[in-house]
Amino acid sequence: MTDIWYNETLYRSWGQRFAITRELARVRSSFQDIAIFESEFHGRIMTLDGIVQITERDEFVYQEMLAHVPILAHGSAESVLIIGAGDGGVLRRVLMHGNVTRAVMVEIDGEVIRLSKEFLPKIAGNAWTDARAEIIVGDGIDYVQRAQDTSFDVIIVDSTDPIGVGEVLFTDDFYRNCARILTDRGVIVNQCGVPFMQSAELHETSVRRKRFFPDVTAYIVAVPTYIGGFMTLGWAGKDASLTTVPASLIAARARQSGILGQTSYWTPEIHVSAFVLPPYIARHLP
Ligand code: SAM
Repeated sequence: MTDIWYNETLYRSWGQRFAITRELARVRSSFQDIAIFESEFHGRIMTLDGIVQITERDEFVYQEMLAHVPILAHGSAESVLIIGAGDGGVLRRVLMHGNVTRAVMVEIDGEVIRLSKEFLPKIAGNAWTDARAEIIVGDGIDYVQRAQDTSFDVIIVDSTDPIGVGEVLFTDDFYRNCARILTDRGVIVNQCGVPFMQSAELHETSVRRKRFFPDVTAYIVAVPTYIGGFMTLGWAGKDASLTTVPASLIAARARQSGILGQTSYWTPEIHVSAFVLPPYIARHLP
């Protein structure tokens, strides 16, 4: 039993703390302060600039919903772009889908990838060496500016919050280019904060997405270590039918791709119900 605590610094008026047994790494990269701890209950934890990004104990919740929902809603996604997600957890889930022939991951900070490979190997598993994966160390905004028109079916933005290096991933320029490089049924999803504490993030980014996509909404996920209740994942698509696919069809697609029964949070019913938003969240959508 340790009496060493890690206090998260995200909010001035509310926080959480983790009983930790030891610090495994602490690196000041060109972009951020990266720390990885061993904790008593949550397994290994990575923080960036003091903010919890991922814990081994609950990473499945967030990664499954960020990856499986857009891919199974689309139904025939072959080319997926992942921005951020340096821990590799989203990449691993994307590559579980047999239809996916190309997964490009653009992470700005190579140190996050290096440290994740060394200290959080279970999160990415074998994703790093999958022949369909292309790992690029670079800025997501630069990548989407240069990418070809209609070159991706799904874009998944697993970034830090819109402060610092993550800020460019919440701008008009970014969404304009994402709309250009997505195919005609394409969709982009992005981590959009915990509205109970960060409602401006959901509102402001949804208003921006509405300028470039006809179908803008959000879906919710209950990530234990993203404190404040439901986390929202922003949704912006070119085809409104993707958010109304019945659970039976989602299940059939999941069975066909081998996902069904391989998840611990996502299910076809959770997928469909995640788009039913409580009023305190829905009111922040345009
Ligand atoms: N799951 C976490 C969450 O919801 O807070 C995010 C995890 S992931 C570690 C966030 C990643 O986004 C970081 O590794 C960070 O380096 C990366 N990132 C931030 N800004 C970026 C940008 N402009 N281009 C590419 N990656 C970026």
